Amino acid sequence: MLLEFFGRGSAFTDEHNSAFFTDGSDLVLIDHSLPAFNRLRRRHELACADAAGQGFKHIYIIVTHTHSDHIGGIPLLIHYAYYVWHTPVTIAAASEEVGGLLRILFDKIEGCEDGSYEIVPADTLKWVNKVIPTRHTPALDGKCFGYLLNIGGKKAVYTGDTRTLEPFLPYIDGDTELYCEAAAFNSGVHLFIDDIIPTLKEIAAGGAKVYLMHLDNEEAILKAIDGTDISFVTVYDGS
Ligand SMILES: [Zn+2]
Ligand SMILES: [Zn+2]
Repeated sequence: MLLEFFGRGSAFTDEHNSAFFTDGSDLVLIDHSLPAFNRLRRRHELACADAAGQGFKHIYIIVTHTHSDHIGGIPLLIHYAYYVWHTPVTIAAASEEVGGLLRILFDKIEGCEDGSYEIVPADTLKWVNKVIPTRHTPALDGKCFGYLLNIGGKKAVYTGDTRTLEPFLPYIDGDTELYCEAAAFNSGVHLFIDDIIPTLKEIAAGGAKVYLMHLDNEEAILKAIDGTDISFVTVYDGS
């Protein structure tokens, strides 16, 4: 798996979906929830205690959309990285509009210090090959995105929260890892597992690895993928 996870649950679970990978001394997060923050803190302390004695030198956060289970941990991380770790934080926004909304949250609501973070367009990061607009809840129309990522020369497609797989299909081939949200409850704003199983099976048959994330009911979804090549993402347990 190219990505690790601090949590793989949907909004109304204990562990919100939060992905990450490292590239040298850079830590790259995809969204960051409050429950993920404590796990990140432990992870950073472990990195500080390794042979090189250095933690992460720069933290990047690629944002998919502004629901609180996806951005709830970011302001706290900005404060902590600034005051305690003295580590620069760069937030990658998929559009200017989303960047502006995040700025209101960080500056006006949270009171983040001047210079404690920067916001850049997501497609300027070396790990982002393509920003993929998608549709999720009607209230956030035009403000939800997934990504085609390049992690160490390998391809990962990350859906974020979405109600459709269509925008992602052109970017998936046999060498891709697909990180796909899935729901057992048919809400209309997420990918209902029974609807997407046939497409996911086809994708897996083509050689891609298919990992499910942002799960609302693990038991029910596990039953639905029984006997397929589809699996869940694994969660970093803090060790
Ligand atoms: Zn969510
Ligand atoms: Zn959402």
